[in-house]
Amino acid sequence: MAKTGILIETENDAVKDTSLGVMTAAAGQEIVALVLDADPSAVKEKLAEYGAASVVAVKAASGDLSASPDLAAECLAAAVKEYGLTALLGTASAVGKDLFGRLAATMDLPLVSDCVAVDVEAKTAKKSHFSGKTFATLKVNADVLLATVRPNAIEAVAAPAGGEIVEFSADVADPGLVVIKEVKKGDSDKVDLTEAPVIVTGGRAIKAAENYKMLEDCAAKIGAAVGASRAAVDAGYAPHSMQVGQTGKTVSPKLYIACGVSGAVQHFAGMKTSKVIVAINEDKDAPIFAKCDYGIVGDIFDVVPALTEKL
Ligand SMILES: Cc1cc2nc3c(=O)[nH]c(=O)nc-3n(C[C@H](O)[C@H](O)[C@H](O)COP(=O)(O)OP(=O)(O)OC[C@H]3O[C@@H](n4cnc5c(N)ncnc54)[C@H](O)[C@@H]3O)c2cc1C
Repeated sequence: MAKTGILIETENDAVKDTSLGVMTAAAGQEIVALVLDADPSAVKEKLAEYGAASVVAVKAASGDLSASPDLAAECLAAAVKEYGLTALLGTASAVGKDLFGRLAATMDLPLVSDCVAVDVEAKTAKKSHFSGKTFATLKVNADVLLATVRPNAIEAVAAPAGGEIVEFSADVADPGLVVIKEVKKGDSDKVDLTEAPVIVTGGRAIKAAENYKMLEDCAAKIGAAVGASRAAVDAGYAPHSMQVGQTGKTVSPKLYIACGVSGAVQHFAGMKTSKVIVAINEDKDAPIFAKCDYGIVGDIFDVVPALTEKL
């Protein structure tokens, strides 16, 4: 049994679902949940439910973790040593990508990022290559496996364990290379695209920026985020932050509903690992119908409002 650390991300004192999926990636191992600078008692129950043998509240003996990602990385490195972890996994989110890069540099270890599966005992990690055309399983030859897991790539499964809270104060110096002075929240309350469990995407067929309202209405019924194809972004219908694909965001939701998207390889590169793909397209020969789980041949301006009403 490999002693595996999981970097837990929280939001409003609740564990993010994506972190629970990362815990499931290490199912069967002794899981040490690492919570940075947060109240562990608020999240203990949930973490225990999903397999945490212990919940370690990581703090810095001096310095502010939230203001220094380098200090956070130093603290995580100290925790890896303190608890004899042979693997440390996190989410391939903005936070995970930032911290694990720094951690790999601090510990002089290789990092496998954006994995879709991990075998901590064998120290292997599977990830998508060449825009999703192939998958590679990488073997890490190092004492500690460092990997980030694509959000939602692994569905969280409950596996009750002890969840004992442990305080850990790391006596490390802050490299002070970066100081975060202020965090400004985006002006949108919408679900984050990369972590959304359901995504409704509009392609070129949406025809105008205001028509995204139709997709937003549908998305609101099911707690989904709204995405766009590059053609829609290039046409000025949606901002680049909504673009899914090779030159946009990589997503892996449980359900991906593509509305008026033809199914180009570059679009698929960003959403190929979605669990269930539904396509709505008026052209029965559109390439996307060869790659989806469910297809509806029809005009999005008829089908989407009808779907919203049913939902
Ligand atoms: C280097 C490179 C990187 C790229 N990166 C990306 C990327 O990150 N993301 C991305 O998406 N693309 C990317 N592309 C572009 C990609 O090749 C396609 O051009 C793009 O995905 C097409 O977008 P689309 O499916 O919305 O548009 P189209 O290919 O024009 O398809 C529109 C579809 O809508 C259907 N349709 C039209 N009207 C209706 C209607 N009323 N109801 C129902 N269906 C309708 C049509 O039948 C058609 O299938 C990239 C290309 C290159 C070369």
